[in-house]
Formats: sequence, C-alpha cells, structure tokens
Amino acid sequence: MTSILKPEGDWLSKVEEFFNNDEPVALPTETVYGLAAPISRPKAIAKIFDLKNRPTFNPLIVHLKKDWDIFNWVEKLTDVESRLIEKFWPGPLSLVLPKKNIPDICTASSKLVVLRAPKNKIFEQVLDGYGVPLAAPSANTSTRLSPTTAIRVQEDLGERGLKAIVDGGRSSEGLESTIVQVVNEKLRILREGALSDEELVLAGFEIDKSYQSQVAAASGDVMPGQGKHYAPLVPLVVMDDPQKWVSYHSNKKLLFLKILESDAPGLKPFNQKAQFVVLSQNDLKEAAFELFETLRLAETEVEQIVVLKTKDIGLGRAINDRLRRANG
Ligand code: AMP
Ligand code: MG
Repeated sequence: MTSILKPEGDWLSKVEEFFNNDEPVALPTETVYGLAAPISRPKAIAKIFDLKNRPTFNPLIVHLKKDWDIFNWVEKLTDVESRLIEKFWPGPLSLVLPKKNIPDICTASSKLVVLRAPKNKIFEQVLDGYGVPLAAPSANTSTRLSPTTAIRVQEDLGERGLKAIVDGGRSSEGLESTIVQVVNEKLRILREGALSDEELVLAGFEIDKSYQSQVAAASGDVMPGQGKHYAPLVPLVVMDDPQKWVSYHSNKKLLFLKILESDAPGLKPFNQKAQFVVLSQNDLKEAAFELFETLRLAETEVEQIVVLKTKDIGLGRAINDRLRRANG
C-alpha cells in the first residue's frame, strides 16, 4: 500500500519516519515528481534503484537548498558555475560538479555529482527538515515517462513497493531539469530541459554549440538521459511534415498530437475518428506543462500516438528531444 500524504498536519514527520526506516518517498518538484532519499542513508538510496529498476551505473541527481553552504558538498566552483547558481537556483538547472561528502552509490562511483536546488515549497521543507541533500531521480520506472502528478507516480511505482508519495499537485514546469557542465567557461548542455538555451544566453552565458551536436549524434547511454527514455507504453511516431502528419493512416486507434496550434494553423487530421489534441495555442511553457500528462492519458485511451514536431526554439528543443527518444 502506498500512502498518499497531503502536505498538512504532521506530514513532514511522517516523511522523516519513512526515511529513517530506509524507505524512499516520492516528492513533488517544479520539474517532475522525484523519488527521494537522503544521501546519508545508503539502504534507502539502494531502494531507489530497485524501485525504478534503474541500473546502478546510472547516477542520481542530488538536491539541496540554495541557502546551504554548497562547499559541504562540492570541492570547488568556477566563477561561471557560481554565477549560474546565483542566477538560476532554485530552479530547473542541474550542474555537473566535483563532489565532496557524497557517497559513491549516488554517483555510480563518479567523482562528479549532478546537483540542483529545486523550486518547490514541499521539497524545500523536507530538505530543511532533514538537513541532508536528497538524491531524487524522476519517480518512474526506468524508460517510462516522468510523472507530473502523485497519481501517475502511484500507478507506476505503487505496485513495485513504493511506501509514500507527498501530493503537491501538478508539477509547474512538467519537463525534467536542464543538465549543464561547464568546461572552459562554456556551457555544455548534457540534457535539454525546462531551462532553455535562450534563457541561459540571455543571462550572459555562452553555450558550447559544437558539443551539443556531438551529443545529439552520439548513441548509447553514457550521457545523462541519452538512453531510450521517456517513452509512453503505446508506440509514438514523430512527424516533421504537417501534410504527412494530417494524412497519417493506420487501422489502430490513434491520437494526433500537435504541440502548438501555430506549428500548423488550422490543420486537423483527416481521420475524423481519431482523437486530436493541441497542447497550446502558441505557448511552449504551457505545452511543456501538458506534454507528459497528455502522453500518460493516451497510454490508456489509444493504441498509437502520432505527433507533429514543434520548432527547435526555446523549450521546443527539449520537447522535441523527449519526442525523439519516445519515437518507436
Ligand atoms: P533523472 O534521474 O531521471 O532525473 O535523470 C537524471 C539524469 O542525470 C540521468 O540521465 C543521469 O544519467 C544523469 N546524471 C546524474 N548524475 C550524473 C553524474 N554524476 N554524471 C553524469 N550524469 C549524471
Ligand atoms: Mg528520469
């Protein structure tokens, strides 16, 4: 049985009790729900890998408060890294940093850790209450879609033995964090996410574009989130030609998905029996917020999803990245 805790009354002491019994707890963050455990409790961390069926060579993102002394957890910061933290924490930016006092089980024995400070009151209260960083990968079984509500976590991990979820409503961003590594003062985007390149550039940071294309071309699971990831349970096809998309034909029960109405104004699938969903008129933030929940709904309602790709601009890049990985 999974308890779904409302964040009221003595919820915080209940969460701490689960941690003290080495049980991970799913917590809301602004990106997606995380499966959290204190880095000081290796048995609880090991259970994260079990629950998610995640290979132990795939490291976990570690979460802390911005107002904590980060030098308890990292060896050093460059000037660019400090400025990124100052500007974007708390928020959906994860940084690859040289670790200190962080157990190897969290980082798959790497000397680097991916750290971030989440912007979510519930998660922050748990951090303040327990006083130790929390490892928290997305609260889904490996390769499945990240959950943006407590119910989706329960559907996925409840039967696998997850003991508790704190229900903090829907995640406001709806996409995972952007993972950045700073090399020679330039930013390598290891995983596109809820913080767009454009926002980073606007804040005065330089992105290493040559590195990005290298990552896109690479295959295998060595880079963060580069595996077949984020896939719904029904096949998903991504199309980039609106005409081919509208005329896509299959005998299966289909969902036609348009990310933005402005991607192909007025265009509707020819197949009138199919379901048809537009995530947003012209707002990528709204589209990102709706994306995973829409795909999860589709898993139970249709046999195949046919998506029209959006433009590779702003959050559109992260959305297209998730679609590409889900593409069967
Ligand atoms: P998730 O755990 O689902 O939020 O995804 C986190 C991503 O960050 C995974 O793809 C990890 O492989 C990646 N990651 C976490 N920690 C490290 C690390 N120390 N070095 C490289 N990649 C990491
Ligand atoms: Mg994940």
